[in-house]
Amino acid sequence: MLLLIKKGRVLDPASKTDASLDVLIEGERILRVGADLTASGAEVLDVGGLIIAPGFIDLHCHLREPGQELSETIETGTRAAARGGFTAVCCMPNTQPVNDNASVTRSIVERAAASASTRVWPIGAASMGSKGEALAEISAMKAAGAVAVSDDGKPIATARLMRQVMEYCDSLGLPVIDHCEDPSLFVGGVMREGPQSFRLGLQGIPAQSESICVGRDVETALLTGARLHIAHMSTRRSLEYVRWAKQHGLRVTCEVTPHHFTLTDEDVRYDTNYKMNPPLASGDDRDALIEGLVDGSVDAIATDHAPHHPASKDVEFDRAPFGITGFETALSLGLSELVHTGKMALMRLVELFTTSPARVLGIERRIAAGQPADLTVFSTSYEWTFQAAESASKSRNTPFDGRLLRGAPMATIVRGRVAFRR
Ligand SMILES: [Zn+2]
Ligand SMILES: [Zn+2]
Repeated sequence: MLLLIKKGRVLDPASKTDASLDVLIEGERILRVGADLTASGAEVLDVGGLIIAPGFIDLHCHLREPGQELSETIETGTRAAARGGFTAVCCMPNTQPVNDNASVTRSIVERAAASASTRVWPIGAASMGSKGEALAEISAMKAAGAVAVSDDGKPIATARLMRQVMEYCDSLGLPVIDHCEDPSLFVGGVMREGPQSFRLGLQGIPAQSESICVGRDVETALLTGARLHIAHMSTRRSLEYVRWAKQHGLRVTCEVTPHHFTLTDEDVRYDTNYKMNPPLASGDDRDALIEGLVDGSVDAIATDHAPHHPASKDVEFDRAPFGITGFETALSLGLSELVHTGKMALMRLVELFTTSPARVLGIERRIAAGQPADLTVFSTSYEWTFQAAESASKSRNTPFDGRLLRGAPMATIVRGRVAFRR
């Protein structure tokens, strides 16, 4: 089985390649990269005018299987991911049951093998039931396919537990990902505390709910010297802690979601599609996140795709669950908000979706002979309107329904096969 991708503009951050090249794939691997390749009998995919990037990796999503299949399944979630240009997604462990042991990890890997459009890399829980008490079966989950550890949905409960998890995961070579919030400051809040929460009469969550926990985690990384990854970072103060950690040689990384670099708390209205955790932040925070994305302080764009069945979001703001979907709009928002505004070079955006998240997981992403044939082909200029009703996800909870976007994924190649084509 040969697949020849012709006439694309290859953007490969690892080798800093930006050139018109063809990519020849044999089976699940890249066979050759070069100008004007030919191969008799190959299926040809002409991508003239489009970008060929390494396959996008999403470090943070919720696929809801097992246990909440009304909202999403591995099959529907990864179909949406492939439409968004993702070739691999890391799914958080807050399923029902929680992915805190090898049998749940194995069942996710098996379901993915049978039904997924992309690679699925499970993230195991840090503590049993993510309850913040006993350590989960981390080593057995790693053997079953887990690529990282997190109690996402909640922070890792205490500094003491964080120390234990970090030290244990470091010996296994797994990153620890923390959802940072201080529960005592967060309690009852539904959006960011500030002028807009007062105007709307909604209970606010102060920015420090996040940064206090980021500070605790950075201190614990200083104590242990171990790997730490901050999930969905949303504030300037949090970013300052991460910058400090990087400047002092700590192995600390972080991710930012498309909604946090696109929207602010000023956009929040009485519509539960604007309710997510962490909440949309201030304009000053949003500007800081964009600076961090541009200058390398932020390591990845991650979606935090969090589908919720329409019935569960169709309630009062206070009672709705936190979270929005994100796979299908992520790249287009990055192009529209960061690249087309002149704030970021295209190569840097590609890096934030590919080589840089790969590095967080301790792996490589390159477009070169012998590498896995995972590729994302996209247009920087294709204009389209995102329609939530046409999403491949089972859920519709997005604030970007009807949004006009410039740039889009056009083909997603996973293991040498076309998983999506526009
Ligand atoms: Zn979270
Ligand atoms: Zn999450």
